[in-house]
Amino acid sequence: MNFTETEEQQALRRAVADLGSRYGFVYTRSKVKSGQPTDELWLEAGKLGFLGVNLPEAYGGGGGGMYELALVLEELSAAGCSQLMMVVSPAICGTVIARFGTDAQKQRWLPGISDGSIIMAFGITEPDAGSNSHKITTTARRDGTDWLLSGRKIYVSGVDRADAVLIVGRAADGNNGKGRLKPVLFAMPTDSPGFEYRAIEMDIAMTDKQFLLFMDDVRLPPDAVIGERDAAMAQLFAGLNPERIMASALSVGIARYALDKAVRYAKERSVWGAPIGSHQGLAHPLAQVKIELEQAKLMMQKAATLYDLGADLAAGEAANMAKYAAAEVAVRATDQAVQTLGGNGFASEYGLGALLATARVGRVAPISREMVLNYVAQTSLGLPKSY
Ligand SMILES: Cc1cc2nc3c(=O)[nH]c(=O)nc-3n(C[C@H](O)[C@H](O)[C@H](O)COP(=O)(O)OP(=O)(O)OC[C@H]3O[C@@H](n4cnc5c(N)ncnc54)[C@H](O)[C@@H]3O)c2cc1C
Repeated sequence: MNFTETEEQQALRRAVADLGSRYGFVYTRSKVKSGQPTDELWLEAGKLGFLGVNLPEAYGGGGGGMYELALVLEELSAAGCSQLMMVVSPAICGTVIARFGTDAQKQRWLPGISDGSIIMAFGITEPDAGSNSHKITTTARRDGTDWLLSGRKIYVSGVDRADAVLIVGRAADGNNGKGRLKPVLFAMPTDSPGFEYRAIEMDIAMTDKQFLLFMDDVRLPPDAVIGERDAAMAQLFAGLNPERIMASALSVGIARYALDKAVRYAKERSVWGAPIGSHQGLAHPLAQVKIELEQAKLMMQKAATLYDLGADLAAGEAANMAKYAAAEVAVRATDQAVQTLGGNGFASEYGLGALLATARVGRVAPISREMVLNYVAQTSLGLPKSY
């Protein structure tokens, strides 16, 4: 076991931090205010090879693993310019296509996902199914060799920027659609006739928006189905560990950003003749954040290392635990940063009040805190299932 990053990983960390420092919070805030996506940063990150660092070299990627991709998102997030779509496009969709797609599907999607010129969103959540993904009703039926996909998805991120959405649906097989429904993964281009989407007004200051999707007999060719139809559930789960590792990276970066802002302020601000950081009422909560941040980061790195070694099951437990710990520390860090800055904690100039809501998302998405606790209670502790 080695807790030191390789020279390549350290160099990657420095290079991403440098990119992040050139954009940072001021850039993100201006994009949030104007309602525009962070295309400049996204495309530059892609050009530098950061977005596809986990994808195979043969398809334009960097040949690294989830460790490296998480490192990229952590550094951008710590610089105040986190990229939500990294959780989705290269991590979930890129991974699923790289691991289970045909050569033609890899050629079609991976080079663009790697250099950022193609963005693929991911749609699993449905209004009526919620956390219970087994209840999804988006259904594809056969029409000759094509598929006709119909249904609704909710809270899907970044659809306005996306070239395609990886839709988790079900196949109505045989018996005129009365057969057993099976999950299937479809790469659905966003310009498909019959597909519409509508932005959901959200109370979070994020550059990527969330959407309600409507699919009404969207015609898809046979090669829109990613991977083996009969193993779609296993393939889906293979994409969910990267999702949780990347959600951890985003939260760890937010916590680092908030802690850094708070510590700097606590060293400089003086109201009783000494820096406010000398008061234990402020210093101890910041020290607690530092400890919990390092714990969460270590668990995230363990999850990524296990995943890259191919230990999917062990990675699953670590990824859930990392996601839980990272979301918790991001909330604690941003809350304590707001407290440390006093009135300035709510001023747009510092951006911490808005970051608190963003950090809070980590407790709900991509998997809620309670569903992680259910997983740990049942899988790690062997306790009975309550639902
Ligand atoms: C900013 C943002 C971005 C998102 N991006 C995407 C995306 O790109 N693609 C996508 O598909 N989805 C996306 N989502 C959706 C997200 O994954 C879901 O919101 C999340 O999984 C929770 O589902 P839900 O909102 O339906 O809540 P519900 O399932 O209705 O849950 C509501 C509450 O009940 C709790 N609960 C539910 N079941 C149990 C149980 N068995 N035991 C204990 N508590 C329970 C939950 O933990 C939660 O606190 C996004 C959401 C947000 C907020």
